Order: sequence, then C-alpha cells, then structure tokens
Amino acid sequence: MDIKKMNQLYEGKAKKVFATSDPSYYIVEYKDDATAFNGVKRGTIAGKGVINNKMSNLMFQLLEKNGVKTHYVEQLSDRETVVKAVKIVPLEIIIRNVAAGSFSKRYGVEEGRQLKNPTLEFSLKDDALNDPLINDSHILALDIVSEPELDAIRKLAYKVNDVLKEFFAGVGVKLIDFKIEAGRLPDGTIILADEISPDTCRFWDAKTNEKLDKDRFRRDLGNVEEAYNEMFRRITNA
Ligand code: UDP
Repeated sequence: MDIKKMNQLYEGKAKKVFATSDPSYYIVEYKDDATAFNGVKRGTIAGKGVINNKMSNLMFQLLEKNGVKTHYVEQLSDRETVVKAVKIVPLEIIIRNVAAGSFSKRYGVEEGRQLKNPTLEFSLKDDALNDPLINDSHILALDIVSEPELDAIRKLAYKVNDVLKEFFAGVGVKLIDFKIEAGRLPDGTIILADEISPDTCRFWDAKTNEKLDKDRFRRDLGNVEEAYNEMFRRITNA
C-alpha cells in the first residue's frame, strides 16, 4: 500500500496513532509500554507491541471472514498497521463469559465462576473519571450513540464473542472476558476498532486455568512475556 506516515494524532497507553497521506486511513503503532489500574502501575513488556499488533490483525481478519466489519486494512511492519480512520465511540464495551476482575469484586463472585450467559457492560472511556460503568439509558441520555447504533454495538459485541470464543477454544484457551471499542466511519457505519490482544482480553489455559494475559502484569504473577509469547504461538499454530 502506497501510504505515507504523517504527523502523530494521538498517543495512548499502548499505541500511537498517526495521520497518513490518505485522510481515509490512519497508521497505528503498538508500543511495549504497559499500564494498569488507570495508569497507576507502569512498566514494559518486551515484545508486547509486536505480538499485540500481529495478534490483533489475525483476529480482525478472522472476524472479517465471519462477517464483522473492522478497521483493519493492512499490516505494514512488526509494530505498524494501516487502519480505517474512524471516530472512536467513547465506550469500553466489555463481554464476560466467566467472572473475573472488577466483575468478581463488584458482585462478590469468585473468579472462574462460569456465567449462565455472556454479559455485556459498558464503561465511559474517560481516564479522568476512572472509566465509570454506564448503562444503556445513560448512554442514550448523554447522546453518546443513538438507539440504532447501540443495537449495532450490542450485536457486534456478541458476534465478536461467538467467533473468538470458538476460535480460542480450538487452541486450548478459555476466553474469560474482553474489552472492545467501536468506531464510526464518515458515513456513520459502526465498525470494530482498537485491538484484540492479551492486553484487552482475559485468556486462561483450558486445562490448567493458567493466566495467559495482562493479569500476569497487573498482579505481578511473573512470566509476563512468556504468556504473551505462548498466546501468539498458539494462535499462529492454529
Ligand atoms: N479491559 C481493558 N481495558 C480497560 C479495562 C478492562 O482492556 O481499561 C479488559 C480487561 O483486560 C478484561 C476485561 O476488559 O479482559 C474486563 O476487565 P475488568 O472490568 O474486569 O477490569 P479489571 O479487572 O481489568 O480492572
């Protein structure tokens, strides 16, 4: 793809976003920086940016094959990918299959408890407010998205869960929960954006329940790089 990287538009905790010579596209660049607890814990996970870039792109391609529209266009290098330029909807869209993390804490449920059905929850993407939970009524009242867009986001999230859950089961991994983000194309279409990686999903080994995701960093469990490498090894051998 003949596209030039131009000025940096944004630097987040794990990625940078650049404008390009074509206004319809951005280039994202994945970093090794890791943060947790809204930036309170900081560190580096060597090689994470490369794994998250490649893994996200594989997941986006799998989802596209299954009829999910994503921002993925083309991988440029180990850490860089061309994506469609979208306006990110300021919501963290979280699906859970098994209780863990903040859900377990909030409701006093042991981690690892299988949920009767997948749950969907939203947080407002606002670091200054600590990403507070937000419900459908609040989202509509604040005009963050319209009702049809909210429906589209719900459908998108459950579809992503169906596709990913099945895929990861095939490589011996339980998809416990994950966070996705949605973006709006200039014509208003809602598509899947951001990333799908061990930074944004909880992955447990299907046999041992060993954690193969960012919880190893968040909770100082050790073998952080190894977990990211192991996830990448499994999906590329799939
Ligand atoms: N998550 C994320 N970014 C966030 C918050 C959560 O990617 O800012 C992911 C997290 O990795 C997990 C899922 O969303 O896979 C649910 O996270 P939870 O609400 O349990 O929050 P946590 O326990 O990580 O604070």
